[in-house]
Amino acid sequence: MQALKNIALVAHDNRKKDMIEWVEWNFAILASHTLICTGTTGTLVEQALADKVKGTDIFDKETKIIKLRSGPLGGDQQLGAMIAEGKIDVLFFFWDPMQPQPHDVDVKALLRIAVLYNTPTACNRATADFMISSSLFDKEYQAIVKDYSEYLTRKL
Ligand code: PGA
Repeated sequence: MQALKNIALVAHDNRKKDMIEWVEWNFAILASHTLICTGTTGTLVEQALADKVKGTDIFDKETKIIKLRSGPLGGDQQLGAMIAEGKIDVLFFFWDPMQPQPHDVDVKALLRIAVLYNTPTACNRATADFMISSSLFDKEYQAIVKDYSEYLTRKL
């Protein structure tokens, strides 16, 4: 992955406050990357970033924010497909541990595909803090993806 990253941001409703606070805290780092978000999270992230960059020199550079479908309407699946296509470098996914979601199967699928492709994934703020403050965050990095060729050539 390149130094400028494609960063996926997703938060369930009960975790959106956490996500937005975290985005506001880290706006100066996040603003220089491309942000790919599920629909509602993306709208909130966009507003939060716009407010934070006002009056700073980051204001001139437009942060690219891509908004996918809302999670329950297919946004998680769109993100999973992007991971499989190598279009997502890191995932910040604040899922709700206290409430079942209508799209629980999509949530599980997204987490599975992130592990399969060795995508750095943070599911809570502490991990998100560690990830974004990593010295690797603004560098090129090659994540090793397990070789699945044996699976592809298995005897049926
Ligand atoms: P949302 O989706 O950002 O559209 O709310 C998040 C999710 O529930 O996966």
